[in-house]
Amino acid sequence: MTLVKAYAAQKADKALEPYQLTRREPGADDVEIKILYCGVCHSDIHTARNEWGGTMYPVVPGHEVVGKVSRVGANVSRFKVGDTVGVGCFVDSCGHCNNCKDHQEQYCENGHSQTYNSFEQDKKTITYGGYSTHIVVTQGFVLNISDKLPLEKVAPLLCAGITTYSPLKYWGVKKGDKLAVVGLGGLGHMAVKIASSMGAEVTMLSRSPGKAKDAEELGAHHFALTTDKEKMKELANTFDFIIDTVSAEHDYNEYLALLGTNGVMVLLGVPPTPSDVQAFHLIMGRRSLVGSLVGGIKETQEMLDYCAEHNITSDVEMIRMDQINEAYERTLKGDVHYRFVIDMASID
Ligand SMILES: [Zn+2]
Ligand SMILES: [Zn+2]
Repeated sequence: MTLVKAYAAQKADKALEPYQLTRREPGADDVEIKILYCGVCHSDIHTARNEWGGTMYPVVPGHEVVGKVSRVGANVSRFKVGDTVGVGCFVDSCGHCNNCKDHQEQYCENGHSQTYNSFEQDKKTITYGGYSTHIVVTQGFVLNISDKLPLEKVAPLLCAGITTYSPLKYWGVKKGDKLAVVGLGGLGHMAVKIASSMGAEVTMLSRSPGKAKDAEELGAHHFALTTDKEKMKELANTFDFIIDTVSAEHDYNEYLALLGTNGVMVLLGVPPTPSDVQAFHLIMGRRSLVGSLVGGIKETQEMLDYCAEHNITSDVEMIRMDQINEAYERTLKGDVHYRFVIDMASID
């Protein structure tokens, strides 16, 4: 057992504070990672505040982890001390169900082990995330990170990057496709970057005119105000894909109407209450409303390699560990371009 420094929420209504965490000694198949950077995902806030229910306190959030290998177990051959590596949203899965065999560990039929507020595969040891100096992860769930890109900007790829890359790949987004992105936050800004790198013609849909310039700088080709009724009429039946990253309550029907024949709207955000969908919007034009959850380990590695090759990173704002509570408040207000990343060297 190793004691490491961390930050934890002790209760739903309490700020995060310093916490001493026990990590297991690396077993034969384990990689111990000294964490350099950890991104701040909206899910961290939902979990710290028990907004989805089921939070086990104390909780140490963080699932956008980049660091250096500090120790390896006897069976580990793919990694050595000093390698740059990453950990994303989950740290283990059953390994033998149909989805695991198909490299879709995120849909493990026996329940995958999320990086925090979850259980290891023994189904009793609680997992703790990346707001800490070290993490120990079984080698099959550790990702190789290229040193080509600035590592603090790579960290958010481990959740925001794969969450947007996976559906774009699965539904085969390609050159010339007309694609709209709803919501310009951590996920939305990655969707714009990755979709445009794949050759899609990207439109940013937003309620705030102030986002137009930002969207363009990120690589969006067009910007449309969803409050502009005339513009929305003009855009009806035009998109092949809509990537909806919004986790606040909103009307799906408004966006479904913008899809062309066989158009696909992908949900990545989880609004707090169920939504009404007009069946007509799906029937007319054989449209699909679908969802997607991060991506498997193999695909996450593919995404990291793709981003290294195409020079794609997240736009980040660095914070010290003790600024995390302020960062949560600013994230909730959308006051971040576009991801906070914790410099783990600042923890004490
Ligand atoms: Zn996340
Ligand atoms: Zn499985």
